Amino acid sequence: MQYLVGVDIGGTHIRTCITSFENMNKETIIKLKERTLKTDESALSRQIIRMIRSLLSQNMIQVTELVSINIATAGPLDVKTGVIFNNANLGHRTIRIKGPIKQAFPSVECNMINDANGAVLGVHFYEATDDEKDNLVYITMSTGIGAGVIVNGHLLRGKDGNAAEAGHGMINPISPVECSCGASGCWESFSAGSGLSKQISAVGKKWTTKELYENARKGNTMAQKIVDQANFYNTVGIGLINNFYDPEAIYIGGAITNDADLILPVILENFEKQTIKFTINRVPSIKLTKLGDEIGLLGALALGKYILDKDKILL
Ligand SMILES: [Zn+2]
Repeated sequence: MQYLVGVDIGGTHIRTCITSFENMNKETIIKLKERTLKTDESALSRQIIRMIRSLLSQNMIQVTELVSINIATAGPLDVKTGVIFNNANLGHRTIRIKGPIKQAFPSVECNMINDANGAVLGVHFYEATDDEKDNLVYITMSTGIGAGVIVNGHLLRGKDGNAAEAGHGMINPISPVECSCGASGCWESFSAGSGLSKQISAVGKKWTTKELYENARKGNTMAQKIVDQANFYNTVGIGLINNFYDPEAIYIGGAITNDADLILPVILENFEKQTIKFTINRVPSIKLTKLGDEIGLLGALALGKYILDKDKILL
């Protein structure tokens, strides 16, 4: 048998999984999940290697049966050197991933992809309809905001693998609120978890993001104002993505979508009632992904499959 390993590196959790190449059915994938180790710069790669070894031994799979290890990670990263750099949530300036993993599994191919780019491959493989596949966007809204984009059947990757870094698109240059990246006025400084925390403390409150949405639901005007602002900039951000890439469908996922009832209907209404204010192009179908927390893993596996298949999506 031939097997693919998937790895999803996030600021809070590391997920790993293994699946046979012939049957990548969601239900048959074997998974492991742990909290991300940040004790030193090599803790993360050691943790991933240990998790892969236990997937192999628990399922009596030999290293020789492994085709590839496919890693989707929070970025920014350099896909060629396999290094994650300047990530605000992983605890270290520079984290080498590919080198140590290649050392531990020298005979196995190791592929890396930015998590949002991986996730759009996951949506492409597991979820999108045939008429959506060629022009498809995935937007993740969690601690930060990221996007993965497929145009004319090709994944957009960029010189280092960080194309469509939409969350740091500057949508209000005169904003006084600083983004986690150090700039001001990025989309995620208004609408992602990290940005919402800053917007909450700016009004003297100590709510978590979850409490913010709860309070908005209960009618607290201060909470509603922050949520309204987040949704306004969500519509601005999605409108720009629609102008730039002209997708057929935009799928949205990430932790923030636990409160999608206060987000998605507002975005859809903005596009319906004030279309030209937010986008010049035809409004695409905008919806939540059903892949949930596992979208990163599924995206990593889809990457492995498309590489093996020499699929044109990666050309
Ligand atoms: Zn930023």
